[in-house]
Amino acid sequence: MKADGTQEVENWPPLRAELHGVEPYGAPQLDVPVRLNVNENPYPPSRAVVEDIAGAVTLAASTLNRYPDREFTTLRTDLAAYLSRDAGFAVTPEQVWAANGSNEVMLQILQAFGGPGRTAISFAPTYSMYPEYARDAMTTWVAGRRHADFRFDHDEARRLIDEHRPTVILLPSPNNPTGTALPHEVISELCALAPGVVVIDEAYAEFRRAGTPSALELLPGHRNLVVTRTMSKAFALAGARLGYLATSAVLCDALRLVRLPYHLSAVTQAVASAALRHADELLSRVDDLRAERDRTVEWLAAEGFEVAPSDANFVLFGRFGDREALWQQLLDRGVLVRVTGPDGWLRVSIGTAAEMTAFKDAMREVDR
Ligand code: PMP
Repeated sequence: MKADGTQEVENWPPLRAELHGVEPYGAPQLDVPVRLNVNENPYPPSRAVVEDIAGAVTLAASTLNRYPDREFTTLRTDLAAYLSRDAGFAVTPEQVWAANGSNEVMLQILQAFGGPGRTAISFAPTYSMYPEYARDAMTTWVAGRRHADFRFDHDEARRLIDEHRPTVILLPSPNNPTGTALPHEVISELCALAPGVVVIDEAYAEFRRAGTPSALELLPGHRNLVVTRTMSKAFALAGARLGYLATSAVLCDALRLVRLPYHLSAVTQAVASAALRHADELLSRVDDLRAERDRTVEWLAAEGFEVAPSDANFVLFGRFGDREALWQQLLDRGVLVRVTGPDGWLRVSIGTAAEMTAFKDAMREVDR
């Protein structure tokens, strides 16, 4: 006991053991002219969209003394209508769930279906937040491997599922940071083999190339399939924080057990619904970004770099003996990319045509 009456504690703050020495997640937030590091959409919302959002927020503000609709019924209906376009069947509001970014959606999935004594798996290289959701939900984390060219490895998946009986499988399609999409056969096979839920993280689905299917189409045949999406990327709404999912009504309902009361503010709900009214306009730049992505892949390959084929709004390229040095040289020229993925590779998000020209100009100057 100390003189002021408080207990002597050796380690302060009294962190959980698994948080000791851990750095908070996040890419550097640097104020540079060309920011191509967190897969944002480079196009800000138009004046019409800004005005509609502002009007919706004004309306929501007049009742901010009340808690918001806990079940966000209007927003769920709007999201279901949007998803139905891609799914090829009528997704119902009861099949839709949302939270503050798809990060929170997936954390809730781990909170509901993971937990002590349970295991979640994925296949590396993949999105670096997954082990953090597992850690925060006290779930054992196991990462298998992909093939050297980043394709999904069926044998590895079968082996891992047999050995660990995971209650959650997390798989992005397209994958971050490689851009690799999953064929339908893989998803169906995983749903058949998995003892728990199979989460296909489609944060970048709207950017997929023609002919690449969405996992949404498979929902009617698999009760353990969960498809997550976000308004942060194709919808150009990263600042609003709205992620969502489609699955069976039973799994959606289960997530209500772990969500915090009123987790989606009235302002968030109003902003998201207003943005969904402008889906066509917000998504109209996606085709430009896909074309810019394909041009970037071609350019990097023509320059003699290794490039992973991409269905997303970013490209993984390499390989560099010292990728940190290359990253710094690009930064010195005002271009911010991301050090992520396997050693030797860098990831560049697709920006406007002018930003990609700046990226290419900087790449021509750096010492490879
Ligand atoms: N999944 C993947 C694969 C991502 O890359 C990201 C963001 N970088 C997210 C989910 C989370 O996005 P948000 O929380 O903005 O919806």
